[in-house]
Amino acid sequence: MKVYNTLSRQKEEFVPLEDGKVKMYVCGPTVYNLIHIGNARPMIVFDTVRRYMEYKGYEVNFVSNFTDVDDKIIKKAMEEGVSTQEISNRYIAECKKDMAAMNVEPATTHPLATEEIDGMLEMISTLIDKGYAYPAGDGTVYFRTRKFKEYGKLSHKNLDDLQAGHRKIKVTGEEKEDSLDFVLWKPKKEGEPYWESPWCQGRPGWHIECSVMSKKYLGEEIDIHAGGEDLIFPHHENEIAQSEACNGKIFARYWLHNGFLNIDNKKMSKSLGNFFTVREISEKYDLQVLRFFMLSAHYRSPLNFSEELMEAAKNGLDRIRNGAENLKHLWKNAKSPQMTEEEKELWEKSKEFVVKFETAMDDDFNTADGISAVFELVKYANTKADGDSSKEFLDCLYQRLVKLCGILGILAEGKEEILDEEIERLIEERQAARKEKNFARADEIRGMLLAQGIILEDTREGVKWKRA
Ligand code: AMP
Ligand code: ZN
Repeated sequence: MKVYNTLSRQKEEFVPLEDGKVKMYVCGPTVYNLIHIGNARPMIVFDTVRRYMEYKGYEVNFVSNFTDVDDKIIKKAMEEGVSTQEISNRYIAECKKDMAAMNVEPATTHPLATEEIDGMLEMISTLIDKGYAYPAGDGTVYFRTRKFKEYGKLSHKNLDDLQAGHRKIKVTGEEKEDSLDFVLWKPKKEGEPYWESPWCQGRPGWHIECSVMSKKYLGEEIDIHAGGEDLIFPHHENEIAQSEACNGKIFARYWLHNGFLNIDNKKMSKSLGNFFTVREISEKYDLQVLRFFMLSAHYRSPLNFSEELMEAAKNGLDRIRNGAENLKHLWKNAKSPQMTEEEKELWEKSKEFVVKFETAMDDDFNTADGISAVFELVKYANTKADGDSSKEFLDCLYQRLVKLCGILGILAEGKEEILDEEIERLIEERQAARKEKNFARADEIRGMLLAQGIILEDTREGVKWKRA
């Protein structure tokens, strides 16, 4: 599997730190409002990356935070005359509802910045002890950027160019040693939430939050760190500086960044006011359509949002849904139980679409080509399956389709479609085959079930089955 690494600016073979396991951190939203569909892009994209990794057999530890202390949250709380916690709790709950409707799986852990302050105080103290950070007179703690020799390695920026840019905008009234230094801890202002610290009553800077939460839930070295491309600089660059200076280890091996969701070729953002919330879109479309729309482009390409493209996504998704419905319908009415020799060949041939899908996804998660493979499978099923097809053939095709769609997180209702009846029938057939010493057929059935995630266990009480 190849992934594009922002660090090296090229596609690299994915090799996890630990065999069979993936440790992945995705920067989550700041919760002061309903999320917009730009924020939804990394959620959908990296949920799909996670699902594909799981499909490939990896155990994925997926951590995504909520930034629940921030200037914008404080501003909103003041406007409404409520606590910052009330604002963040409200929008975390709303965000989770949107995620569920987009079929984005909950992370293994969703840490909250405000619950991890102790870890932040500890990391900042270590950075001070190691000479990488210093408190200024007003209690602000800064990171000593130039001391971290590799600063700029992710964003491919040069420190002197950065410094020249900084000089032009000249920051006054600060006690920084160097204009490149960034904040780790800042003093509270009147009426703001704060925590005690050795330096002042205050709150953490944004970057330190992710370094600490990633370390706590995934360890000092992780496989993948991800987010939107606007996070490359300064957020991720600063995270690398803090974590690597503190831990003395490479922080993350692969840095993945999604391109922007645009409107009229401009980044959708709250500050420009050119956004649609996920909630607004849900009034017009099933959010699986939004998901399908996002996945029809490569995650690193910019994607322009338009009514037209959403309509095209709706039609595309409907085509897949209809294909699945058709198979289900035929299955219900099918008479013959077992695949004929001809069907066996057709079934074997349909593997080609799985191979095509995997090839696309193995190439830096090319969901656009993955979707083409799904369309081809649907077309194949529509032409090869009919009223004379066997139950087994129809079920196998259906399961194959559901499996691929499951990786993309579309066709969610298919997930619940449990054809227990068919499983029981195949198990009976396998028992009969074994009795007749037709072990080839028995093994074939076991393999077929396994391909659908059904594991058989031969016990003294008979055959038991479970879903993988
Ligand atoms: P924020 O709440 O602004 O920190 O954003 C949360 C996540 O959404 C980050 O990974 C951002 O990079 C991402 N994001 C924000 N706006 C867009 C956009 N228009 N297109 C793609 N990703 C975005
Ligand atoms: Zn982050």
